[in-house]
Amino acid sequence: MSLTTPSLMIDGVTLMAMSAAIITLFGGIQIVYRGFWWWVGAQWSATLGLLLLNFTNWHTSILPLANLLVLQWPIVVLGGVRRFYPRHALRIAPSVDLLMLATIFTAWLALWVVQGRTVAEVAAVSAGASILHLYSAVLTAKLHDFRRSSALKILFVALCFTGVVHMLRAIQAHSHLLSWLSVDSLRMASGFATTMMALLMVYLCVQLTYERTSRKMRESQRQLRYLADMDMLTEVPNRRHFYELADEALASTETGAASIVMFDIDHFKLINDEMGHAAGDAALRKVARCVRDTLRGRDVAGRIGGDEFALLLPETPGQDAVSVADRIATQLRVHTDADFAGPLSLSFGVVLVKPDENINEAMRRADRALYEAKRQGRSCAVIASGTDEDLVFSTSQAMGLSTI
Ligand code: GH3
Ligand code: MG
Repeated sequence: MSLTTPSLMIDGVTLMAMSAAIITLFGGIQIVYRGFWWWVGAQWSATLGLLLLNFTNWHTSILPLANLLVLQWPIVVLGGVRRFYPRHALRIAPSVDLLMLATIFTAWLALWVVQGRTVAEVAAVSAGASILHLYSAVLTAKLHDFRRSSALKILFVALCFTGVVHMLRAIQAHSHLLSWLSVDSLRMASGFATTMMALLMVYLCVQLTYERTSRKMRESQRQLRYLADMDMLTEVPNRRHFYELADEALASTETGAASIVMFDIDHFKLINDEMGHAAGDAALRKVARCVRDTLRGRDVAGRIGGDEFALLLPETPGQDAVSVADRIATQLRVHTDADFAGPLSLSFGVVLVKPDENINEAMRRADRALYEAKRQGRSCAVIASGTDEDLVFSTSQAMGLSTI
């Protein structure tokens, strides 16, 4: 079957209408994002424009509307892309897009009104379409997400290709300068460009929506993970996550040596009772902040429950762990807080994790050392050594004395 202009036109209209229908349906059943309905609008409008072009021989007066509906396509698609990526605005304002379209359309209209349907008028509309396609291609390439998105790259190539085809048509229509280019091959290229644009819009809408949805899913997974792992009040790992992190940190120590420090706020119930729960919460946040400010990157901290926290300090002997505890207690004493300014002291239980011992066993001994620190008068640290059955406690060391 030979491809004549009407058959190309009808095929183009059918394809554009089909792609417009597919993306409309897609938008109806999927979650879509800002800008999506601009693409749907651009597609339906271009379809109508192509359809109207078929009837211009009977009613010449519909030619301006038909041309406007066809010319808008790259600009409205670009408008959708701009809305799809609102966070990284392009330096050229959206009003410039409209101005470009308006200028080109008005220039063509003036030519058409003055001269009627002439070669120059046909060349002008092709040249205008070319400029609009190439302008949209350049702005698409300037988008922040251009490098990351395969859909944007394909859109860029398609806009460039269509822009060049329109430009060749303009040159050929006006001056027949390109003797090597037959009218038929230009028509074929133009039909191919329309087919490509129709298919591209389906691909673009599905791919960009898919890219955005999978990014949002990754973000929500990260957020869910954060909510599941962290204690929201103090922003340190919760009990379960602390055990996970401590296990990992212990496994990656070179010597397998590490200290565990368990600590608890002294007379915290009194703070809650006398100053209220909000003050109690502020105190917990303040303790967590002092812990974060004191620890090294490899150390692990967690809120074990209530006013109880734990630290795992890799490659740290017991006495050094006591120094860390002292620095936390001193920070707490020195830095008063806008929310909470009451006196706060901490009691610490310190143990050295034995080779081949798991975190649970070491934590049980640290808990007993903490209990001993409370028994010995609070605001102090006690190191526990020996076996579970025969635990030996050091004499308590007063906390909050280091000069920071
Ligand atoms: P001790 O010196 O022996 O530790 O005495 P204490 O008063 O601190 O006693 P304990 O450690 O058992 O008190 C824990 C209190 O912490 C009990 C509970 O009301 C309070 N608490 C637990 N979680 C929260 C919280 O998220 N916010 C506040 N404000 N209080 C909490
Ligand atoms: Mg307490």
